[in-house]
Formats: sequence, structure tokens, C-alpha cells
Amino acid sequence: MAVLSMRYIPDPILREKAKKIKNFADSDLSKLAMDMVDSMYFYNGVGLAANQIGSLKRICVIQMPEDEEPTILINLEITRKEGERLVTEGCLSLPGWQGKIMRAEKVWARAMDLEGKTVKYKGVTDLLAQALEHENDHLDGKLYIDFVESKNDLYEVEIGEEEDD
Ligand SMILES: [Zn+2]
Repeated sequence: MAVLSMRYIPDPILREKAKKIKNFADSDLSKLAMDMVDSMYFYNGVGLAANQIGSLKRICVIQMPEDEEPTILINLEITRKEGERLVTEGCLSLPGWQGKIMRAEKVWARAMDLEGKTVKYKGVTDLLAQALEHENDHLDGKLYIDFVESKNDLYEVEIGEEEDD
């Protein structure tokens, strides 16, 4: 168990695309996943993608407030999106800031768990849909600030008050 150090904007690793994981038997992979879960809790986020702690493996972790256990997602891809909605978003890699952006209303996604079993999300909504999009963007080298349309839609907030992914 270890808390990994957070990478902040403009760290170039946040702009790189994470690479698909092929070897699930790798014990380093489960250690990385556990350390990412610890780090997500430590920094108090809803989700954390590998780029944010300096790795380019395609893995992210999510903790939904209603779930007892964290979700570990390997090789996450968004397969379909439907609708649009305005959301408030923040990011652990940009503390003290929040933005208003458009996200999908419904999200379909596919990933694998630590054992290599397929995990599917079919038309999920709300915070889970937002978190899946946010983490998938990280793994593609994108950040929510890329989707902020006007300067007024990005604003400072008290540290710790952001909606953190
Ligand atoms: Zn983020």
C-alpha cells in the first residue's frame, strides 16, 4: 500500500495516451491498482487514471459514493455515448479549479477487471457516466479543461471543494 505522488497540469504525462495492458498475470499490475486506490482515497477523488500518478498503463480506478468497494478498470474504452448535459467538473491534477462542460447523458463502456474478465457498462448515467468519461479522457491524454467553452466556465474554488475525478 502506497500513496503515489500526483502529477499536476502542465506535466506532459497528462497529455500522453496510455498503452493497453496485455499481461494480467503481472503482480506489478495488482500492486499498481492497489496503490492507485490508496492514492485516490488520499487525494479524495472519485476517480484516478494512471497518467495522474506517472504511469502510462491503461488503468483507472473509480470510487462511487454509493459503492463499498472501489472499481478497477483496465483497458477502459467508451463504446457509445448518448445525449448531452451540462456538468460541473474538477480534477485532482488541477486543484482549486472547477469547470462547466458538456458530458454525455448516457455512456456505454467496456473494460476488464484485474483477472482479465470483461466488465460492461450499458447506458449508465449521472456521476458514474461522468467519471467513466473523465478517466477515459485521461487515458487518452485529454483533460476536462479542453472542453471548457469560455473562460468564465472555468473558475477557482477552495482547495478540497472541487468535484474531483
Ligand atoms: Zn482528472
